[in-house]
Amino acid sequence: MRAFFVTGTDTDAGKTTVTAGLLRAFAKARVPAFAVKPVQTGCRETKDGPEAPDVVCWKKAGGEGRALFCFRTPVSPHLAAQIEGARLDVSSLAEACREAVAEEGVTLFEGAGGLYVPLNEDENMLDLMRELRFPVLLVVANRLGCLNHALLSLEALEMAGLRAAGMVLCRVAPPAHTDAGTRPEAEELILGDNAGRLAEEGAKRGVPLLADIPYEEHFSSSDGRCWDVMAARLEKAAAVLAASPEEDEGAKERLAFDRAHLWHPYTSALQPLPVREAAGALGARLFLSDGTSLVDGMSSWWCRVHGYGNPRLVRALQRQAARLSHVMFGGLTHAPAVELCRRLLKLLPAGLEHIFPADSGSVAVEVSMKMALQYWQSAGRGEKCRFVALRGAYHGDTLGAMSLCDPVTGMHALFSGVLTKQIFVERPACRFDAPYREESFAPMEETLRAHAGETAAVVVEPVVQGAGGMWFYHPAYLRRLRALCDELGVLFIADEIATGFGRTGKMFACDFAGVTPDIMCVGKALTGGMMTLSAVAATKKVASVISGADAAHGGGAFMHGPTFMGNPLACAVACASLDELCASPWQEKVEHIRQKLEAGLAPCRAVPGVADVRVLGAIGVVEMEKGVDVEAWQDFFVACGVWIRPFGRTVYVMPPFIVSDEELETLSQAMLAAVRSAAKHGGTPFVDEGVFSC
Ligand SMILES: *Cc1c(COP(=O)(O)O)cnc(C)c1O
Repeated sequence: MRAFFVTGTDTDAGKTTVTAGLLRAFAKARVPAFAVKPVQTGCRETKDGPEAPDVVCWKKAGGEGRALFCFRTPVSPHLAAQIEGARLDVSSLAEACREAVAEEGVTLFEGAGGLYVPLNEDENMLDLMRELRFPVLLVVANRLGCLNHALLSLEALEMAGLRAAGMVLCRVAPPAHTDAGTRPEAEELILGDNAGRLAEEGAKRGVPLLADIPYEEHFSSSDGRCWDVMAARLEKAAAVLAASPEEDEGAKERLAFDRAHLWHPYTSALQPLPVREAAGALGARLFLSDGTSLVDGMSSWWCRVHGYGNPRLVRALQRQAARLSHVMFGGLTHAPAVELCRRLLKLLPAGLEHIFPADSGSVAVEVSMKMALQYWQSAGRGEKCRFVALRGAYHGDTLGAMSLCDPVTGMHALFSGVLTKQIFVERPACRFDAPYREESFAPMEETLRAHAGETAAVVVEPVVQGAGGMWFYHPAYLRRLRALCDELGVLFIADEIATGFGRTGKMFACDFAGVTPDIMCVGKALTGGMMTLSAVAATKKVASVISGADAAHGGGAFMHGPTFMGNPLACAVACASLDELCASPWQEKVEHIRQKLEAGLAPCRAVPGVADVRVLGAIGVVEMEKGVDVEAWQDFFVACGVWIRPFGRTVYVMPPFIVSDEELETLSQAMLAAVRSAAKHGGTPFVDEGVFSC
């Protein structure tokens, strides 16, 4: 089973003739072949229903095929649909196309016009092709300007992440027909040269020229012999397409190599947990190289809020890569960094005014700790050099950040010799969704009053404790903390790396409490998950104290500066991501996801073995009574068509904001099926026939 998308450099490039010829060439080679026209305009009404001109042509060549969406008006698809009171959209077209792929042999999907032919006001043929991800056969009309058209089309395919399987050059007009201004000899010379040039340019890009078809007067006739000539010219093309590599070619070998040499997060090098190969992703779906399509419940660990393949983000990255991908930030600046800072200042809680761009979340946490330490050094209070953190916290994996993580789940015992001993307070007991109880703040108040003299800062993940246990606590706690920090002269650092940019339903979780921390770390979703980037924002007060220090206390310079600080690619894509977020009704979307998750996960509460179910913003958590076997749960989820990776006792989802209702339903159903199966099979879900109903 193989499918290809046949497209042209422009209208009348000869796609239909080439498709017809290929059908005949496949037939001669005894390869079952079938053609599909996703949208056909100019259809004729007959007593047996609409008759599609392209299908008629394929049949003349002895081929089989059908059209999926037919319109009478002989104009471009979006216009024909509009005139006839219909609307085309990529998702229904793609669904119909996928269903039309023949079980056996080769299916050729023939587009209409070229790549950028509109299907509606927002989507075009290339969007449909991206959705289908079939390798592409580009039919190039051999006329003046054809190299330009062909190379631009190849470029567009590459930028869309599509593989061009080959090109067919096709002469579509009789000699001296194209342009009255060009002399016939000159035209012959040019068109004759095109094949050689196209073959060379194609070779540079790994796209072979599979055939060069001269002009034929009688293509449209039903004379079988003329089609035999055509089929002979396309014999090689058909053979190449039939033998073209499957998407997962080499995947087995790569997985074995990976297993032997690559270290994955939190795994053994010698006995690693199994991994799967991701070959692509689009929207809220991941595609594995074995062809499996999974609904992504993880947003790749919080960050892919706009899902995958968002054109605005992809374009921003490509544009910036072509312009200035990286330059040192010492002594130089650039528009992407400045524009990002401008955008952040508009979104951050009022009072945060100075931005330090850094490479990753953990580095941002290190930077925030160094800021707090230098602040007190500069203020002549160097003895204030410890940090107060919460149990159940997660702040990153570098040594400084790790010292702030929960001492038990953060593996402090393993690194006890080198980790700075911080001061820990029990996690806030007041649930987000229950009335606030003042006594839940007592442990913090007690500790902070006792240690204020030696404490540089309190570091917390506001409202949502993420990787440390997915715990949601009451925002009133943050208001109390802000007031107490002010009273005792302790800095307040908010780690919004997981919570930032809408995940909780607020732009930042601090916004629930209306507080401004002295220092805030952001990361993860900052670039929409396209690249690693983080930022540390500080108030004027923090920046002024550090910057006003005398020579003995740092001389006013903040002492940090990573090589890839403010990387232009990352900043440019972060700008695009923030623009995308702000242009979208993200608050409504997150609220909608919250309601759907709440309803979808509620039945889990009644299942034995489930300790708690909680939902906040676009985060849904099922907490089990016992720790889960990650591998078994993951196998179960993949069998259900979802990507969910539990850890510890929590099974949770935080889908991209662009997730559809149907995809959300799939995620909740899979979680419910998993906990039910686990309840039946001693705590671990078992992939049995029941799975496939989910
Ligand atoms: C992920 C995370 C970090 C660490 O970020 P990295 O980019 O993985 O280094 C820090 N704090 C919180 C709250 C996080 O969720």
